[in-house]
Amino acid sequence: SNFEDLNLPQEIMNGLLAMNYRKPSKIQEKALPLMLADPPQNMIAQSQSGTGKTGAFVLAVLSRIDLSKPDQPQALILAPSRELARQIQGVIQSIGQFCTNLRVEVAIPGIVPRGQGIKGSAIVGTPGTVMDLIRRRQFDVSQLKLLVIDEADNMLDQQGLGDQCVRVKKMLPPNIQILLFSATFPDHVMTYAERFAPNAHQMKL
Ligand code: AMP
Repeated sequence: SNFEDLNLPQEIMNGLLAMNYRKPSKIQEKALPLMLADPPQNMIAQSQSGTGKTGAFVLAVLSRIDLSKPDQPQALILAPSRELARQIQGVIQSIGQFCTNLRVEVAIPGIVPRGQGIKGSAIVGTPGTVMDLIRRRQFDVSQLKLLVIDEADNMLDQQGLGDQCVRVKKMLPPNIQILLFSATFPDHVMTYAERFAPNAHQMKL
């Protein structure tokens, strides 16, 4: 199949072209129609690294953002490390390079927003910092539509990180769409995952 079949906005298509993404990878082809379906559905997706899973959720993030509100957080992506958070920020900015007014910020340790708090249409962060910003009212979560957890096996399995993810989720709008991505879902992690993303569509590649 082709990206043309996915009904993506032209500015995203231009970004894909510039990145030289000619055809959707398997995970992108299978996950995108589900992630973009109306009404939004939760998803638990298992796919090895190197299969284009970052691109898959980045396309979902870019498609769901209302670009007329660049300072209003609408999508939150959680990752286990600041390096990965920055990497994901870079992929969103690359594929979104033709999306005028796209603003993507990171919420990671050492980044302290002054005054008005963290702004941006998409925020990529580590769970502890995100939790802290929300608690200090430095992060307006009221308009978030989408929560993505990358490396969900790592995130939900670890005592500390898992607790932080759950705490963050409790502070988000109740109907937020939740997408979990991971290379593996061992049984005990899947138990957490199913609790974290209720009624999720599950796919394995
Ligand atoms: P990931 O699995 O997200 O780590 O992506 C692996 C690599 O594949 C990255 O270098 C991406 O830039 C690249 N990639 C992702 N999607 C596509 C695509 N549809 N066509 C070509 N390359 C892609």
